[in-house]
Amino acid sequence: MKVLVAVKRVIDYNVKIRVKPDHSDVDLTNVKMAMNPFCEIAVEEAVRLKEQGVASEIVAVTVGPKAAQEQLRTALALGADRAIHVETEARVESLAVAKLLKAVVDEEQPDLVILGKQAIDTDNNQTGQMLAALSGMPQATFASAVTLDNGELHVTREIDGGLQTVALTLPAVVTTDLRLNEPRYAKLPDIMKAKKKPLESKTPEALGVSVESGLKLLGVETPAERKGGVKVGSVDELVEKLKTEAKVL
Ligand code: AMP
Repeated sequence: MKVLVAVKRVIDYNVKIRVKPDHSDVDLTNVKMAMNPFCEIAVEEAVRLKEQGVASEIVAVTVGPKAAQEQLRTALALGADRAIHVETEARVESLAVAKLLKAVVDEEQPDLVILGKQAIDTDNNQTGQMLAALSGMPQATFASAVTLDNGELHVTREIDGGLQTVALTLPAVVTTDLRLNEPRYAKLPDIMKAKKKPLESKTPEALGVSVESGLKLLGVETPAERKGGVKVGSVDELVEKLKTEAKVL
């Protein structure tokens, strides 16, 4: 089984987000970037499927600037066999990413495509669903368990108030939820080996996809600063403040 894993370069989740002084966008100057955490879970799941003898090849793919090759090298260090970089400096919205991934799917013919459920920078939660629709593949989103059973993929999904298990025919699209697995760290020898693994570069033009956006970012604001709290002396004082200051009673 060939597995294609989509990984996105995003701001490291530990970094405190800064907005540009003109509020036009998030400031990425000298900011630490990393693989989107849900994509790390996607890579880990693919590696586990390979370790179980279910997957035979793992191909990592990213759409992004030259620097996004760093995240592909991380995927290779974690266990992907080869990588595909669709290089563009443009801000690519989910639909264009899904179209580019569909073009890669058409070339690579994977049995399974694993994506994160959402990218923590734009919080879109769209790409996996769009890819499934564009390529006519069944999809299981928010996966918390994935097994292969008699050629069918069984996926447990985290839904409101419980779990749902679905069976998919292959090829299929799966998006990962937080509890699917705990990703491993790349070991130094594997990081060294990853430098020699194949990484192929492509352009959106070569894949026949326009990355022109139908969406314009109008502005970015940080959340309002929270005011410091006060300690009240009694329940009566709390009720009084809720009535007169917060005006919620
Ligand atoms: P989103 O729909 O943008 O929240 O992203 C969901 C998932 O789609 C991510 O976790 C990735 O697996 C994949 N994805 C989104 N953008 C990209 C990108 N530029 N390159 C590769 N994969 C992407």
